[in-house]
Amino acid sequence: MGCKHMVKVVKFGGSSLADANQFRKVADIIKSDPDRRYAVASAPGKRDSRDEKVTDMLLQCFRLACDKRDISGTFDKIAARYNGIIKDLGLDFSLDEDLEGIKVAISHHASRDYIASRGEYLNAKILANFLGYPFIDAEDCIFFDENGTLDSKKTDKKMSAVLSLHEYAVLPGFYGAMPNGTIRTFSRGGSDITGSIVAKAIGADLYENWTDVSGMLMADPRLIKDPLSIPEITYKELRELSYMGATVLHEDAIFPVRKAKIPINIRNTNDPAAPGTMIVDKASSNVVETVITGVAGKKGITSIHVEKDMMNSEVGFGRKVLEVLENHNISFEHLPSGIDTMSVLVSSAAIEECKGSITAEMVKAVDPDSITIMENLCLIAVVGRGMVSTEGVAARIFTALANAHINIRMIDQGSSELNIIVAVEEHDYQKTLEAIYHEFVK
Ligand code: ASP
Repeated sequence: MGCKHMVKVVKFGGSSLADANQFRKVADIIKSDPDRRYAVASAPGKRDSRDEKVTDMLLQCFRLACDKRDISGTFDKIAARYNGIIKDLGLDFSLDEDLEGIKVAISHHASRDYIASRGEYLNAKILANFLGYPFIDAEDCIFFDENGTLDSKKTDKKMSAVLSLHEYAVLPGFYGAMPNGTIRTFSRGGSDITGSIVAKAIGADLYENWTDVSGMLMADPRLIKDPLSIPEITYKELRELSYMGATVLHEDAIFPVRKAKIPINIRNTNDPAAPGTMIVDKASSNVVETVITGVAGKKGITSIHVEKDMMNSEVGFGRKVLEVLENHNISFEHLPSGIDTMSVLVSSAAIEECKGSITAEMVKAVDPDSITIMENLCLIAVVGRGMVSTEGVAARIFTALANAHINIRMIDQGSSELNIIVAVEEHDYQKTLEAIYHEFVK
């Protein structure tokens, strides 16, 4: 149990609120700690791998309505999900009126965002009733500006004013209101952002994000068997790992709480005793037992390698090369350079259509001795604050890769010393991750 004056915001993901049994676990979690004051609910997620998410079914209704087709079949399935939860929880409560209103709205061409948002709206209403807490609608306290960007000033002000009137409350995730009052949703998975916004607005001490894994793992469990979970990770490390595709949280959920230095605790609804992962501004210790915090990678990288004698003394060389990419609206991922060479690493998908013209334009721009394109590369990032103070980390990584007969095509150590990135050929992807993980975790 937390100390008396803490305020915790708790967000529960779709799998945590997928059926009545999960609702009971959620209620137990909330009620077991009086500091868990404000709960943010997602829409019901999948109950098993073949199940459908309510948000997906709502979006299907939207598409059917756009095509002027009957939504009844799909909508009835959605209604049945909610009514099943209400019945199984034994609640004396009905969503019939809401469901009827939503069905009519969809048939009358309500907006996509309004329709998508109803999943959290209805689920939060059930959770509020089950807990005996007030339901606070996100449309009354989360606001976007004309451009659809979050209006944090207005949101903070209204959210804190509204919540100060309630000791406990439930809010739906995923959406807020535009200046004209219409509903706007965040991108998919956006209930994480709502939790973060609530935590920041009320100056919470902790944002607990409850999901179905016991925190963030040191490596992708689809590629590495039973990877260890990460007890503590800094926002910066998290950013490096999520850039490489390791995610437990919507990327945009970090920013509101990060600014306010509010830690996020990733927890598992199905294993509430597990401490999960703490995401913090400053770690309690820079000594990490495994030295590295995690390893992650991304495939589909192409390297454009430009060589020219005396390149390093040619003012504006780099700019001219990058300008070619800029003109094609392509951002680069990495930029390792030598004395007379520079490589620009870009997403293969991004340059697929314009590879030919890009090389031709680079030749025109800087008249290089050669330009070579290397495709089918992947980037592997080894991330960890523990690497800064430990000697020989790079040597261990490179020896592990050499022992596994992996050819390294590029090495880049971030200036923060928080990461070492290597590029290898795609067919070595899995082998590289394994070699690095097992070098640091036995
Ligand atoms: N229900 C929404 C989705 O499926 C938002 C969320 O779960 O965070 O994307």
